[in-house]
Amino acid sequence: MPQKTKNTPMMEQYLSIKDQYRDAFLFYRLGDFYELFYDDALKVAQLLELTLTSRNKNAEDPIPMCGVPYHAASNYIDILVEQGYKVAICEQVEDPKTTKGMVKREVIQLVTPGTLMEGKGVSAKDNNFLTALAFNKTQYGLSYVDLTTGELCSTLLQDEESVLNEASSLQTKEIVLTSNEIPESLKETLKTRLGVVFSSQEEYEPNAEFQFLTSGLVSDLEKEVTGKLLQYLSLTQKRSLDHIQKAQSYEVDHYLKMDHYSKVNLELKESIRTGKKHGTLLWLLDETKTAMGGRLLKQWLDRPLIQQSEIIKRQDQVASLLQAFFEREDLKEALTKVYDLERLAGRVAFGNVNGRDLLQLKSSLEQIPAIRTILQGIDQGEWTETLEGMEPMTDLVELIGQSISEEAPLSITEGNVIKDGFNEQLDKYREAMRNGKQWIAELEAKERKKTGIKNLKVGYNRVFGYYIEITKANLANLEEGIYERKQTLTNAERFITPELKELEKLILEAEEQSVDLEYELFLNVRKEVKKAIDRLQRLAKMISKADVLQGFAVVSERYQYVRPQLSDGKELNIVEGRHPVVEKVLGAQEYIPNSIQMDKETLILLITGPNMSGKSTYMRQLALTVILAQMGCFVPAESAVMPIFDRIFTRIGASDDLIAGQSTFMVEMMEANQALLHATPNSLVLFDELGRGTATYDGMALAQAIIEYIHQHVGAKTLFSTHYHELTVLQDELSQLKNIHVGAVEKDGDLVFLHKMMEGPADKSYGVHVAKIAGLPEELLKRADTILQALEKGKTLQNQGIPKETSVAESSEQDQQLSLFNDFTEEESDVLAQLKA
Ligand code: ADP
Repeated sequence: MPQKTKNTPMMEQYLSIKDQYRDAFLFYRLGDFYELFYDDALKVAQLLELTLTSRNKNAEDPIPMCGVPYHAASNYIDILVEQGYKVAICEQVEDPKTTKGMVKREVIQLVTPGTLMEGKGVSAKDNNFLTALAFNKTQYGLSYVDLTTGELCSTLLQDEESVLNEASSLQTKEIVLTSNEIPESLKETLKTRLGVVFSSQEEYEPNAEFQFLTSGLVSDLEKEVTGKLLQYLSLTQKRSLDHIQKAQSYEVDHYLKMDHYSKVNLELKESIRTGKKHGTLLWLLDETKTAMGGRLLKQWLDRPLIQQSEIIKRQDQVASLLQAFFEREDLKEALTKVYDLERLAGRVAFGNVNGRDLLQLKSSLEQIPAIRTILQGIDQGEWTETLEGMEPMTDLVELIGQSISEEAPLSITEGNVIKDGFNEQLDKYREAMRNGKQWIAELEAKERKKTGIKNLKVGYNRVFGYYIEITKANLANLEEGIYERKQTLTNAERFITPELKELEKLILEAEEQSVDLEYELFLNVRKEVKKAIDRLQRLAKMISKADVLQGFAVVSERYQYVRPQLSDGKELNIVEGRHPVVEKVLGAQEYIPNSIQMDKETLILLITGPNMSGKSTYMRQLALTVILAQMGCFVPAESAVMPIFDRIFTRIGASDDLIAGQSTFMVEMMEANQALLHATPNSLVLFDELGRGTATYDGMALAQAIIEYIHQHVGAKTLFSTHYHELTVLQDELSQLKNIHVGAVEKDGDLVFLHKMMEGPADKSYGVHVAKIAGLPEELLKRADTILQALEKGKTLQNQGIPKETSVAESSEQDQQLSLFNDFTEEESDVLAQLKA
């Protein structure tokens, strides 16, 4: 640490401010630069590739320093914040010219990943959610806000798992911890799995604004966490929060729940391989025309509905759009012209809109009547609610139309923002500016005529303003006393007249004052617009909704989706269904449709088939179809009857996402456990090749036990794929289990995948054939064939280390539990017993 005694007053000031912002880089304003010192300088110089210098080069221990010019600072700040750092911007808050001694400095804003408003880190179709977390030892309170749109929501969560799931859906980059009771384990998980940055806000001083914003919340924990989130915002942002909307409480139980793993596995928003949108369900669905619609779509994707009536409402809207092709085209076109109303409203509140922003607002609002007319035209009741909130806001359109010039520049302080005719005084000033030149020319001519001096001229300088100049040679011709003498030069004399000074006053005043007046007028307009923020936000919601729904219609039509019928009971019947994303990638001709049929009595489909035959695609197909249906979209199938699921659990391969220190198998078991613990009879469970991560018998035993457990205790609709075809005999035992398999045919010793699901169990494992296709050595393949045949005959091959084949299912007939222990050597049974324990 630097020695305080040796510091200059400025460094003293720096250090005392830095002390309050230890986890942020302090950008300390010094003249035209923001400077960083000590460790901040060392790190930032490296991160931003700036030259590292030092403050007192010749001292014993010079202070490391680097800096950025103030006018370019925002770029640098964005880069740091996007990398997960925080930046405290410290400004001079007194005018150095009028201050004696040290200029006062204050941090005017703390920019953090969750509060970034502009720049590369904030993309149009993404929300930037800042989350706060509280814990009262029994449950968690979670609250989130998007500073750019003003959305504020909160919920109660029961366990760490749910917190992780919520934070992951929100794609939050920053979490404000509001109590020191939050378990370390949770913080660790959030940090390693989601890469979030933490901040803290434990104090809370409720004021009228915070109380109003949290007044709709019922639970104390939600009020507390939301209040502290607001407190954090007001302390760090230090500007108006007028656009923050009243907090909405929501319950995760009111939506289709999916855990973090499942969302990752199903590639809803991000591809597992690339981390990008391409190849995801979002990629398929995103036909939105506005940025707001894009953001709402993501929210719907995270929270599919479980209320039948709500799903039907959306389906009705999609259906009505589907029937009206031309209206839909018009709607799309109108939506394309609507700018981001939510973010514009946010910027109005923050006071950083300019003339052009208001023009964008106006041209967006001008689309509303057309959008209303289109929707009214197709409305049979399903659009009534949406239309109610879709107010055209003609008052704003008029105000902006009358006040803001179509050629308004980016700057709001340099004039040319306000239209002619909006303000009488401004018009006079402008008239004066425009006419000034003319007036001077006229005056010059008049004076020449009056005096008869041909080279009399009117000039201007800064010190004396306008003057009449007459050369020495002509002075004699000038009538004494008609002008007031002002200045004598070697060759000429300069004069003024009251009339000239009158004109001058008008012209100069006009220039100066028109700029000031324009600024004032602009602020007034902005104030008026600010009063309409609530209405704008409501309008934005309705527009986004219409936008997402037209996108559903586009996708449903393009790929020939059907409206799913929601069954009250437990019947699932999808005829000739397709995997929406794989179909889009492969093309409709290439994709082989498959039905998924589970009547009321069928709980489990046991899917057997060779590797690479399409088992996991089939399971994903179902999951994505369920999600689409419960979002209110149509689904890729010829017809579909589906129950409404409350949760989806998946253990599907391909994303063998290893948590540090845990094996794939451990992850598999943890996910399986989640499903077994939390699935209800209304849940959907998808287990792909469960148990393959461990030794054969071990895996098979677990697989069978899990199937039996689901059958007896859980009762959730389950798809279970396996390459242990021994398990297929379970159908004889478990009345609600049905075997299906993927068809494959052998042709000239090669294997052809049909990707077609068929009734009944697969008769044979095709592993050896797959190995052949993969090009393994001939000799090896022959040997594998011999071993396989021997195994199939139930023989034990001596000296080859292959255990005697045991049909798990057969033996379980004798004992419902894991009876396969009977057939093992003492040593093997021992291992299994330990595992079981
Ligand atoms: P498995 O889970 O049986 O190993 P996958 O589901 O991973 O097999 O599918 C293997 C490959 O087959 C994938 O590349 C997929 O694109 C393709 N595939 C799967 N199902 C179909 C289908 N119904 N129509 C066309 N191609 C399919």
